[in-house]
Amino acid sequence: MKITAPPITDAHWRGFTPMADFDPIIAREGEGCWLTTTDGRRIFDGVSSLWCNVHGHRHPKIDAAVRDQLDRVAHVTTLGMSCETTEELAIRLAEITPGDLGHTFFSSDGSSAVEAALKMAFQYWQQCPSPQPQKTQFLALGSAYHGDTTGAVSLGGIKYFHQLFAPILFSPVRGPVPCTYRVPDKVDPLTHYAGQIETLLSHHHDQLAAVVIEPLVQGAAGMITHPAGLLAAVREMCDRYNVLMITDEVAVGFGRTGRLFASEHESVTPDIMCMGKGLTGGYLPMAATIARPHVFDAFLAPATDSKQFFHGHTFGGNPLAAAAALASIDLFNETNLVESVEAKGDYLRQRIGTLSGHSNVGDIRGRGLMVGIEIVADRETKASPDPSHQVGRKVCQAAMERGVWIRPLSDVIVAMPPLVATNEELDILADAIIESIDQTLEDTFS
Ligand SMILES: *Cc1c(COP(=O)(O)O)cnc(C)c1O
Repeated sequence: MKITAPPITDAHWRGFTPMADFDPIIAREGEGCWLTTTDGRRIFDGVSSLWCNVHGHRHPKIDAAVRDQLDRVAHVTTLGMSCETTEELAIRLAEITPGDLGHTFFSSDGSSAVEAALKMAFQYWQQCPSPQPQKTQFLALGSAYHGDTTGAVSLGGIKYFHQLFAPILFSPVRGPVPCTYRVPDKVDPLTHYAGQIETLLSHHHDQLAAVVIEPLVQGAAGMITHPAGLLAAVREMCDRYNVLMITDEVAVGFGRTGRLFASEHESVTPDIMCMGKGLTGGYLPMAATIARPHVFDAFLAPATDSKQFFHGHTFGGNPLAAAAALASIDLFNETNLVESVEAKGDYLRQRIGTLSGHSNVGDIRGRGLMVGIEIVADRETKASPDPSHQVGRKVCQAAMERGVWIRPLSDVIVAMPPLVATNEELDILADAIIESIDQTLEDTFS
């Protein structure tokens, strides 16, 4: 049977896409780190299909787990009912997440996992053993990104994504951007940023329900890396000021940074942790908000007391997604994939490092297989290129001509391959990035 490509139309309104001005590209199949498009091209998936693919596309074990679940039941809600596969996953998540995190609330995407965490933290202070109902605010970092629903956008601090919606948002207490690239002169980054956060906590702790933080790397902000020790310092301050700590591991979780969860790098157990993207190996929409016992216990009471968590999604805990997640977690246990990520990340950064002498390459950074290359107009001042140059977009177009799909974050070129990428595949990715940056910078700045 001959399959013809569907027409490219505007029937599909794509996210974050200028619909009047984009290069349409449509996938038909995937295998491992590669996608085949409807026009017959074979393309390396350098963004893990938006940072979520872990074990590659069409992994036989995950495929089989989903098919097997499909033969039993595709969907059962978790409101008043549950599916055995979902129950099994909740137990597994309690086992593999840090410390005594042990009670999972399921949703379908990272934004919803963050929304659930916010409402959970708020409701906790209303009804915990020593209620503090005035604790209704949140502290979020500068350039934070926690998703695109309204509560998550309220936490967000990326001008380009979030400012437009300001009139319909709540305002968090805004922390610093704890960036290791643009550090003020003559300060120790950790002391400086932790000090700024402490000042905010000392002023606002009485009103703060929680601090929300992306551990180690702020992905959407442009792979901004935090100074080592910041996460542990925030944990210590949250304890001292009696504020809950919510970590958003949606991007960094499931092996991305070289540990199963980024919080493990600093031996931190948050009170509430959000997971998404890699949870199902990047297969199906599923996210999770996992809480520690002291949080969960505040919601335990006779039904007549109405202390249950007032939140729930139709598709939360979907069994097909749960089956994919369990198979993905099994693969983590059966392989040394997580342990290999650090070396693969070092290899990729070292390959791309040949660009570091370039007068318009400001910084090459990241953790594990989360790599950002920041293009600047001037290395001394670290000034960003004129937005009209569209440098990031042009680099990614040039990479696509070389059969590699990557996506920029403004002037930061992002490399986020599936964790299973081999060194040979990382070479293909690195070569395409190096050539595309060389070509684009030559065209733009000379
Ligand atoms: C992607 C992302 C989200 C949002 O997840 P969606 O599944 O796109 O809603 C939230 N937080 C972080 C850190 C993310 O990278």
